[in-house]
Amino acid sequence: MQDAIFKRNRILSWSLWRPVFVTLISIATSIVVTVIAVFVSPLTSAVREEILPIAVTICVIVSTLVAFPIACQVHGRGLRLGRTVQMLEAAHAELARRARIDPLTGLLNRDAFMADMTRHRQGGNAGAVLMIDADHFKSVNDNFGHQAGDEALCLIGEVIRQSVRTLDLAARIGGEEFLVFLPEAGTDLPMVIAERIRAGVSDLSQRNGARPHHRLTVSIGVVMQTGCMSDHDIVAAADRNMYEAKHAGRNRVVRSIGPDAPRIASVA
Ligand code: GH3
Ligand code: MG
Ligand code: MG
Repeated sequence: MQDAIFKRNRILSWSLWRPVFVTLISIATSIVVTVIAVFVSPLTSAVREEILPIAVTICVIVSTLVAFPIACQVHGRGLRLGRTVQMLEAAHAELARRARIDPLTGLLNRDAFMADMTRHRQGGNAGAVLMIDADHFKSVNDNFGHQAGDEALCLIGEVIRQSVRTLDLAARIGGEEFLVFLPEAGTDLPMVIAERIRAGVSDLSQRNGARPHHRLTVSIGVVMQTGCMSDHDIVAAADRNMYEAKHAGRNRVVRSIGPDAPRIASVA
């Protein structure tokens, strides 16, 4: 993208049509003014005929010597300004992208997730929410170090990314906690995806390339049919279900349908 911009600007900087155009206009204007001045002046026609070619030649030379360098300079500054604006726009777009992303996992951050989920739900999309928390994560850091903990968070983030659809939202909302929003999820899909994430994280230790962490597992709270609940209520309900999964023994999924329905525990 940046390369294409610079290439185009380099080509533009060689095209001198603008300065040439400005110079031609300057020459034409000065000739017209000179001719009018000569004809309205109280000179004899013999003198007019004598000085007119000289006056026109002077117009061409002076206009070219003055207008062309100035037009080139203005044109060059215009190009540099355009290039700077394009670089600023690219930097702004990159900053806006980074402001939405959790730098460790590449998933959305909390603010971007909540804003996108609100937009989906305002469009009438009920969907489902998954609150995911890594189990006994403190002991990963304690036993293997903070860097191994960070790697484990990246692996969990990757499992989540691979388990959801492209239209779903996935975020690390802080620490070892993740949120997923599934628009147009129906009744079965949220549990299917939650179970895929749970099993995927649980399998991580056996996968090739994974460091020999303390075995990673997650507890997941799922809330479905969220149309009549506020954003805050949905996340709070998913959080409650997640804690219920913790209390039930961790490495499992607990779901509820709507705000008041009984919770159903899915044992790992
Ligand atoms: P539980 O199963 O009850 O959730 O236990 P837990 O140890 O996962 O929960 P707790 O809230 O006690 O500890 C969370 C730990 O997550 C504490 C902190 O060391 C770790 N943690 C939070 N954020 C990060 C991070 O960005 N990187 C790493 N490496 N560790 C983090
Ligand atoms: Mg936690
Ligand atoms: Mg935890």
